[in-house]
Amino acid sequence: MRAWSVTGPGPLDGGPLRPVRKPVPVPAADELLVRVRTCGVCRTDLHVTEGDLPVRRRGVTPGHEVVGEVAGAGAAVRGFEAGERVGVAWLRRTDGTCPYCLRGAENLCPASSYTGWDADGGYAEYTTVPAAFTHRLPDGLDDVGLAPLLCAGIIGYRALRRSALPPGGRLGLYGFGGSAHLCAQLALAEGATVHVLTRGAAARRLALGLGAASAGDAYAMPPEPLDSAILFAPVGDLVPVALRALDRGGTLAIAGIHLTDVPALTYERDLFYERQVRSVTANTREDAREFLALAARHGVRATTHPYPMSRADEALRDLKAGRFDGAAVLVNDF
Ligand SMILES: [Zn+2]
Ligand SMILES: [Zn+2]
Repeated sequence: MRAWSVTGPGPLDGGPLRPVRKPVPVPAADELLVRVRTCGVCRTDLHVTEGDLPVRRRGVTPGHEVVGEVAGAGAAVRGFEAGERVGVAWLRRTDGTCPYCLRGAENLCPASSYTGWDADGGYAEYTTVPAAFTHRLPDGLDDVGLAPLLCAGIIGYRALRRSALPPGGRLGLYGFGGSAHLCAQLALAEGATVHVLTRGAAARRLALGLGAASAGDAYAMPPEPLDSAILFAPVGDLVPVALRALDRGGTLAIAGIHLTDVPALTYERDLFYERQVRSVTANTREDAREFLALAARHGVRATTHPYPMSRADEALRDLKAGRFDGAAVLVNDF
């Protein structure tokens, strides 16, 4: 089959992502074989490709926002039909037995593995996924529109919950890409006032179009103090900026898997009055179920930019350069 492979992680200019041919993967006993229809392009794919994240599998095929159809199954799999539409997301496997898994925090499992990092993902004709970590998808959304919900959407949802936004509260979103624009729609549907702080003019227009109360520069103060903020931009310099925008008792959640260094914080100015900083680490399957149900109920829609799968490298370059707002989605033309 045709697939993309990270042959040598490094800056995009050096061509770290190469088109290759690989055998169609054989699902393990508890796995499904999935024919890829679409695969969203997540910033994490860029981090894997450029080597911001350590190599966990040489020559890995990125991609963890897969909408596909069941094309085969291992001997132990029950409950899936051939041709059924399913979703493959970032969290690929956990041990189910550690203290974190047992208390419902499987996102913290030390034995967890990830699609498109530890195992080949969806920038390919086919991929595999453990049946227990396969997502049932709501009807009423097409293959392109669903893909970004599977990571950008789920992570945005977990970040929103981690930001401890009170009902009807004031939420600041720093950065406004794939994840933030889905998170904003959910927060607005739940009654929040949303302020977007980002550099791109197109992203600001998208934010205002979705119903944000304001859209301004990331380093400027929002028009009112925030109860909660979420940092989507992978920019550590924005941590003190966002903390200073919080009201007393406010919470900042950092949504990314990678962040540039955070500058020194000043306790009295940045953290006192019980302001909090929290990280967000992957997601649980329960997060995914909750989010997909809420997205269907509230009509959360991704702004998408389709690219043929054969031009995945171009989609990554455009993501890095900030050439589109919303989310890029690869449509399988292999
Ligand atoms: Zn575990
Ligand atoms: Zn992702």
